[in-house]
Amino acid sequence: MSVSTLATAPSVCAPLPVLGRDVTVPLVTGGEVTYAALDYAASAPALQRVWDDVAAYAPYYGSVHRGAGYLSQLSTDLFENARRTVAEFLDCRAGDQVVFTRSTTDSLNLLAAALPAGCQVFVFETEHHAALLPWRGARVTYLDAPSSPRQAVEMLERALADRDPYGPALVCVTGASNVTGELWPVRELAAAAHAHGARIVLDAAQLAPHHPVSVADLDVDWVAFSGHKLYAPFGSGVLAGRADWLREAEPYLAGGGASRKVSRREDGGVDVEWHESAARHEAGSPNVIGAYAIASACKALTEAGFDTLVAREQYLIEKVRAGLAEVPEVRILSLFGDDAPRVGVLSFVVDGWNSSHFAAALSAEYGIGVRDGLFCAHPLVRTLLGSDPQTQGECGAPEAAPGERSLNAIRVSFGAGT
Ligand code: PLP
Repeated sequence: MSVSTLATAPSVCAPLPVLGRDVTVPLVTGGEVTYAALDYAASAPALQRVWDDVAAYAPYYGSVHRGAGYLSQLSTDLFENARRTVAEFLDCRAGDQVVFTRSTTDSLNLLAAALPAGCQVFVFETEHHAALLPWRGARVTYLDAPSSPRQAVEMLERALADRDPYGPALVCVTGASNVTGELWPVRELAAAAHAHGARIVLDAAQLAPHHPVSVADLDVDWVAFSGHKLYAPFGSGVLAGRADWLREAEPYLAGGGASRKVSRREDGGVDVEWHESAARHEAGSPNVIGAYAIASACKALTEAGFDTLVAREQYLIEKVRAGLAEVPEVRILSLFGDDAPRVGVLSFVVDGWNSSHFAAALSAEYGIGVRDGLFCAHPLVRTLLGSDPQTQGECGAPEAAPGERSLNAIRVSFGAGT
């Protein structure tokens, strides 16, 4: 369905119930107002359904993989069922592993730690820092910002054609930008990667909450996402995909749960046999509630149906886009053009306004919560703003005086509960 069709649809589907929907906040102008949470891209409010599921399970939780008691067995089953639910949600292939992590950042760092020796990594400069930075120790090729999805594929193909064809290689790409919301041509990038003998990991932190993600159909090797952006509470994430590199790598954390057998050697040292399953990278007592919450969110989204969720979100984002387009001082940030398909995420600057002040005013005067800054994607935002990195601070949101060109941006983002 095209965005223009959706703009004429008055009510596509009801929002899903989320926590905090009726929270009221004080206004500087006096009185209070129901808070409008438009910062789903940072952290989405948990679905009421997820909260209810967690509350129903909480009295029963026990240690997993460690006890014969009834509650331990129950928790172990729920934990392993959560893994299966996530595998189904992501349409994983037979043999793929689902590793529970803390977040997308953690998932990509885990994969970075599991790269085979000599692996070359290819990543666009437009990525979130979670996808841009973990590849320490690897040879990394940073690709410039493309101006269209087609150019992205061509740039990757050119870069891969120049690589050492005998060594391992990994491409890391986002499914939807956390700055512009624009969708990236994941299937085509995966095809390009595979045609050159490289593998690909999809950063689905912004894609999975808004679109179905099929590992099999997109033909990506791994996918990473975060629970707190997928309407589950903080603290859990997922890395799912091919087992081989994960199975061959040293455990991400060493400790109980990751080890199958530990014995003393005659020379006084210790021998360890590590698990080959996902447990290899889940040492320590796992975040069972977090995994259970993610699985609950996956089920809730699947039951609600992405078709209607996407339709509603597109309707809302198009309304915002059209409204902003009428204000001459507003510039919407985009790499691929204003009409490029995007999830419910949109960033803009307002001429003559410091974005931080603008965002603060939206909160203080209207109770609208948005994000301002560089969104942990400094190179991308600087490219979009056409600003000189030398004039900016090292980190965070640089200041511009009112009336000066903005050095940072404002982001509004929607989700299933908006
Ligand atoms: N990738 C993208 C595209 C993101 O938007 C984010 C968070 O904003 C991340 C990765 C990192 O997610 P987390 O902070 O949950 O690790």
